[in-house]
Amino acid sequence: MSCCKEKAMRTRTKKRLYGLYTILGFLLGIAILSGLVFQSVYSAQSYGQLINYLGLVRGTTQRLVKLELSGTPNDELIEYLDSILSNLESGEGEFGLDLVEDEDYLECLYTLQEQWEDLKADIRAYRLDPSFEHALLASSETYFDASNETVFTAEAYMHGELHRLLVVTGVLIAGIVLVWLLLFMLNFKRVLHLEGLNRDLNDKAGRDSLTHAYTLDRFKDVAQKLLEQRRGRQYAVFYMDFADFNYINDVFGYSWGDKILAQYASVLSEDMAEDEAFGRVNADNFVALRSYHTKEELYERQADVDRKITEFMLSSRDKHALVVRCGICCAEDVTEPLTIDSLIDRANYARKSVKAGTREGYCFYDEGIRLQLRAEKAIEHDMEAALRKHEFIVYYQPKVSPESDRITCSEALVRWRKPDGQMIQPGQFIPVFEKNHSIPLLDRYVFESVCIWLRRMLDEGKPALPVSVNVSCLQFYSSDFVKTYREIRDRYRIPRGLLEIEFTETILFDDWHVMNRTVKQLKDAGFICSIDDFGKGYSSLSTVKNLDIDVLKLDAVFFQDTGTLEKDRQLVAGIIHMVRQLGITTVAEGIETWEQVEFLRGIRCDLIQGYVYYKPMPQEEYEALLINESGEYGRDAGVRQPEGNAKRYLETCPAG
Ligand code: C2E
Ligand code: MG
Ligand code: MG
Repeated sequence: MSCCKEKAMRTRTKKRLYGLYTILGFLLGIAILSGLVFQSVYSAQSYGQLINYLGLVRGTTQRLVKLELSGTPNDELIEYLDSILSNLESGEGEFGLDLVEDEDYLECLYTLQEQWEDLKADIRAYRLDPSFEHALLASSETYFDASNETVFTAEAYMHGELHRLLVVTGVLIAGIVLVWLLLFMLNFKRVLHLEGLNRDLNDKAGRDSLTHAYTLDRFKDVAQKLLEQRRGRQYAVFYMDFADFNYINDVFGYSWGDKILAQYASVLSEDMAEDEAFGRVNADNFVALRSYHTKEELYERQADVDRKITEFMLSSRDKHALVVRCGICCAEDVTEPLTIDSLIDRANYARKSVKAGTREGYCFYDEGIRLQLRAEKAIEHDMEAALRKHEFIVYYQPKVSPESDRITCSEALVRWRKPDGQMIQPGQFIPVFEKNHSIPLLDRYVFESVCIWLRRMLDEGKPALPVSVNVSCLQFYSSDFVKTYREIRDRYRIPRGLLEIEFTETILFDDWHVMNRTVKQLKDAGFICSIDDFGKGYSSLSTVKNLDIDVLKLDAVFFQDTGTLEKDRQLVAGIIHMVRQLGITTVAEGIETWEQVEFLRGIRCDLIQGYVYYKPMPQEEYEALLINESGEYGRDAGVRQPEGNAKRYLETCPAG
């Protein structure tokens, strides 16, 4: 048994004993109190009886003397009085009178007894000689006084005793109440303390250890409650994300990245009012719930927070600024009653729309976004049926060698052709399928379509050039990814080297180990591996160094004229020069002008993919193009003789 368990058991046993002692103490207190009350009642009754009999002794003696003097003596009365006095003296007798052990009382009783003996002697003398009448009367007076004194003494004693009992009972009751009060206070304090501890513990569990912000789950709980008790207040949910935070981590180090996140949480926390909350979703994503009067005010508050984090960063050694993208969803802008989950989703959705050119990186969820969201839902909903009905079709975009201006290979690009003929571009549905994790289904579908086509081309003796397919990063983390792709490839008996897998660079930084292993498995299985969209987002040449890839595809951003063309050109020249030395084939994407082609040819870029040569085209069109080209150049057109790395790239390709 673990030490924690033992401790918990000991605490439980202690608690039980504590409860038992409390109950026993209570019962004992009640028993003592009942005993005292019983004794008080009994004593009151017996003292009453005693005083009654003392009064009787006094009255009966007077009656006895009266009877003697009137000539009707009564010896029975004498016997009666004898037995009462004897009972009073000994505490035993037929009258059940208790012996009261009070000195004053006992003294009075002895005196009374003596007086009684004297009185009896005087009665006897009077019976013999009536001249003793005066002596008898005097004796009777003395006796009366003595019995009076005895009654008063007994009364005083009884009062004293009852008073004592009353005081003891009072003290006891006060004691019990006091002890109970004490126990109650202690217990109450303990409960309060435990509650406090519990609260602290819960709070700790619901907070992110790095930033001390609420975890997403805790944030949802708190925010949902605030929304439910909103009492006329308006609320908005914020979803914040730092642009290119990976860059900060990679360039300035993770500890600096952590510091920024903690600082951001601290600035956010200062901004929060009592009826507001914020939390950390993951990495560099935060959510917040703010109440407001005007949307302008919401905007200002967020801007203030972001200004502070920028100031913090600019005051650092590296002076690197950071852009915060933020989506805001005001509960009032949503017609249907929404849970915090859906509000967060909508705020996140608005955040993703920031790039659409809203001011300073903030975007409010609105009707346009709602429609977009609805369209996405429809896409999500229709996907499976569309796969079954083969609504997804594959387009091919040739990659051309600038050396020979001839097609070397192609990229398979998916399109969604709706039954009404409407053609949907991948940019509209791929992100949706990536979000709902169904993209592997589509990727496999495209891959199999390419295999089927290549098989047919090979079977029909047509030129079959390598085709690259895109795969989502999600696949790389699935253990059977390579196995599945190899099985499909083998099913259609596609020779090694005819298929290429393109994956995007952004995913690489998640787990180098997984990436390396997958790339190795893919290459062992005969697939060509390429990194797509290099230069889009945060790029690092360490990717090329760390992964044993065959092809590097430079993104169109390098070739767009944004005023930095000359700089970009130098950069591209440098990259291509370096990458070629590593034996990696270079492909330039998005090339639209002959001037660009000229430049790329000059710096010995291996392949060009762009509208300048060909746009993505339907399979039939591409097939016809290949046949036409091979006819133009002869039967061996499929096996070109390109220069440099493109040559190496094609070495494994079979002739068409
Ligand atoms: P990508 O893999 O980088 O594909 C190249 C994209 O650039 C294609 O867009 C292509 O049509 C476009 N492009 C090529 N040359 C030019 C040019 O000269 N000018 C311009 N403006 N664009 C050019 P497309 O077909 O819309 O595909 C967009 C993205 O969708 C692809 O980018 C790829 O990331 C993704 N995608 C396409 N098919 C699939 C697929 O089957 N699976 C997955 N996971 N993603 C796919
Ligand atoms: Mg691609
Ligand atoms: Mg690309």
